[in-house]
Amino acid sequence: MSDLDWNIAVEKIKKENFKLYAWIEHSKAVYVPESNTLNIEVPEYFQKETLLNKYKNDLENTLKETYGPTVKFNITVNSEMHGKKKSEKKEDKITVKSEINLFSPEARRPEPPKLNDRLVFDNFLVGNGNKFAHAASKAVADAPGQSQAYNPLFIYGGVGLGKTHLLHAIGNAVYAKNPDAKIIITTAEKFLDEFVRKLREGKVDDFKEKYRNTDILLIDDIQFLERGVSAREEFFHTFNELSSLNKQIVTTSDSRPQQLILEERLQSRLSAGLVVDIQPPDFELRVAIAKSFAKEIAVRVPENVIAEIANKIENNVRDLQGILKTIKIMAEQNKTEVTMEIALEAIKTKLPEIAEAKKITVDAIQRVVAEYYNLKVQDLSSKKRPENIATARQIAMYICRNLTDYSLVQIGQYFGGKDHTTVMHALDKIENLVKENEKFKATVDELVKRISK
Ligand code: ADP
Ligand code: MG
Repeated sequence: MSDLDWNIAVEKIKKENFKLYAWIEHSKAVYVPESNTLNIEVPEYFQKETLLNKYKNDLENTLKETYGPTVKFNITVNSEMHGKKKSEKKEDKITVKSEINLFSPEARRPEPPKLNDRLVFDNFLVGNGNKFAHAASKAVADAPGQSQAYNPLFIYGGVGLGKTHLLHAIGNAVYAKNPDAKIIITTAEKFLDEFVRKLREGKVDDFKEKYRNTDILLIDDIQFLERGVSAREEFFHTFNELSSLNKQIVTTSDSRPQQLILEERLQSRLSAGLVVDIQPPDFELRVAIAKSFAKEIAVRVPENVIAEIANKIENNVRDLQGILKTIKIMAEQNKTEVTMEIALEAIKTKLPEIAEAKKITVDAIQRVVAEYYNLKVQDLSSKKRPENIATARQIAMYICRNLTDYSLVQIGQYFGGKDHTTVMHALDKIENLVKENEKFKATVDELVKRISK
């Protein structure tokens, strides 16, 4: 009975959930009625991990439909399963190969790399936060594999900060210069999937050949290697082979090599060349990126709205772009120009956690600035003019202008009813100082950081 039910479940999955099917296709299962448990065996550790991490609910639901609502299941790895399969498939492989040789010699040519042609250096804006990663990527693209200092290149940083963009930009630049270059660009997740698939098909040698014959290997999100032991082993060997031939390797990750849960030898290989991080863009860069993206998607966004978005969305360029797309759609639906209301509405809908973040008040700004300069809050609203007080006051006005929606007039009002031209003068002065004086800029940044907390 159990086999029958298992076959029914598998058939059902094949029809309804093809992705899941790919992972259970070659599994076996034995049902133990006493414990109402289904013991599923898979050949590869990574398969088990994927089933449990990604498809647990799907699998559970199908099994419940087939075996009843109280069925339990567990998955074990039986490495003998693919041991057998390997030898079974040996002959297949030879026939396949001779077919390729006889009938389609082109099939041996490298496939064109799967590059996203939107992600190029030309539209990657450089600023604080990404300038090192950008420079290193450029250097690699100009002379792949030629400098030990940049090989391997390891780029790490938070989500949506441009890692994938840089990786593709490298690939695109190399490909544009030399269309014959053998470039492989993939993600660690796909690398694992492909490895497991080839393993199941008994074609690991093809896999090895493909990866070891490339000139440039670009692997995105290497942290996914944490999940597959044998693919990791394979990656390690590929890595060594490519390095010994001075082929360029670039990897990206969400964290630095030492923080990845990988064997030490792999960690040390990954960090043997250059390790660079990408930090979130500062305000200026966010503004520039927002403007450039608005242009790309052909939507006109007023400066203050750009500022508002750039103010609120600090840590993720993808979110910044997402909001601009939403704003565009909302404006189109309303048949109006983009307004601040639309922008705020878009942020509220798409990024509620940001919209709900506590609103920064002038009061809070004044308190932090006063404290930093050892002044009383009232001093900032007074008519006192000593240098230190005047500067603190002007900085506070500048920060208000940047962190709140208040107009010059409103800000003037908050600082003891000063004229809006006084506020304007303050803003100009501080803006210039920020531009010219690194140290001054650092102070302002620090104040902004404290206020935003
Ligand atoms: P990550 O891989 O770090 O999660 P991506 O490279 O996918 O991030 O970037 C997310 C989005 O932001 C992409 O559309 C990318 O083009 C864009 N982006 C990120 N950084 C920049 C930048 N400096 N200039 C222009 N676009 C950027
Ligand atoms: Mg990415």
